[in-house]
Amino acid sequence: MKKTLQDLNFENKQVLVRVDFNVPITNGMIDDDNRIQESLATINYLVAQNAKVILLSHLGRIKTAADCENLSLKVVAQRLSELLKQEVIFINEIQGPVLEAAIANLKSGQVLLMENTRFADLDNKRESGNDANLAKYWASLGDIFVNDAFGVSHRSSASNVGIANYIGQSCLGLLVEKELTMLGKAVHNPRHPLVVILGGSKVSDKISVIDNLLQVADKIIIGGAMSYTFLKAQGFLVGKSLVETDKIALAKEYLEKAKDKIVLPVDHIMASEFADKPGINSKDANIDDNYMGLDIGIKTQELFKKHLDTAKTVIWNGPVGVFEMKNFAAGTISICQNIAQLDDAFVVIGGGDSAAAAIQLGFQNQFNHISTGGGASLVFLEGKTLPGIAVIQDK
Ligand code: ADP
Ligand code: MG
Repeated sequence: MKKTLQDLNFENKQVLVRVDFNVPITNGMIDDDNRIQESLATINYLVAQNAKVILLSHLGRIKTAADCENLSLKVVAQRLSELLKQEVIFINEIQGPVLEAAIANLKSGQVLLMENTRFADLDNKRESGNDANLAKYWASLGDIFVNDAFGVSHRSSASNVGIANYIGQSCLGLLVEKELTMLGKAVHNPRHPLVVILGGSKVSDKISVIDNLLQVADKIIIGGAMSYTFLKAQGFLVGKSLVETDKIALAKEYLEKAKDKIVLPVDHIMASEFADKPGINSKDANIDDNYMGLDIGIKTQELFKKHLDTAKTVIWNGPVGVFEMKNFAAGTISICQNIAQLDDAFVVIGGGDSAAAAIQLGFQNQFNHISTGGGASLVFLEGKTLPGIAVIQDK
């Protein structure tokens, strides 16, 4: 068991907290502050414990100096301050005397946010490459490290794994604890039937997820572009739909191994081009030569609903159509509606686009858990260890 906030004494301590403030920003405005909201529980807890709170986060990807202009955390500090209803001291540095002095002057209960940790990537990818010297330096700025950035826990960066390696005490934050509890409940100890819905664009992205979940799931419903590789493996016509030719043999293998578990679409919404124009519902599972499948069809919506209605646990990863286009969002909306109305099922959503779809379509509060980590939740569903979690001290 990993240490959590309850296991440590934060009174008057300098506490480095790795949060995930990697939020979408357009023209200097935050489009969706969900990840900031989700970090409040841990920050408020530490403030109430009289800690000196020092926040670190990355934002976007930094390749050139020009990237830094649009990827400052300054707007995040402002929003955080509104949400916390207290001052957030923003330091536009990630190292050096200005930052060190600000930390030294911090009073118990105050909150400081330093600049985007990935600014260090300009110098030999020191943050993303988990540079030991940078990690040691950041670790030297505090007494305790708290990892509350679930979204980057599948990566080894200087600001998560690195700091944890070089600091005296470490523990998980409340968001990470919640993510692990909720995703873990669905994968490790599910009430059955466990019904998994997998969608998205590529089989190759989800092979390890299929492998791992086939062991525990009662049904795996496959939709989205992934389904065409499986349908092709069964001899159906798929027209111009996305197919991964090199994965057809593997799809066939899964179908033979787990025939009774895998549920595939029986019809599709097809279009002649990849554009947001009304499509046509196919007659059956075949797709005509000049068409591509961009969403599940009406009969498939009913078939998937029939399976979902029996579920006691649902894991959803990957939209079942091109939900970003309104003409091909109906299938994904129907999945949201069906799982939202299950009153005796535990429902978790992992995967960046599925989470975005659920939130965008207005279902944010209807599920037991929507993961804040796209890639990290995928790695978790694959049954693999997350390095950002593994590195935290055991109780
Ligand atoms: P997640 O982030 O939830 O794991 P993925 O990244 O695997 O999901 O896949 C999401 C993408 O898959 C979306 O951009 C969606 O448009 C695309 N997609 C879903 N169905 C299809 C389809 N039939 N054809 C092309 N793209 C599709
Ligand atoms: Mg995605």
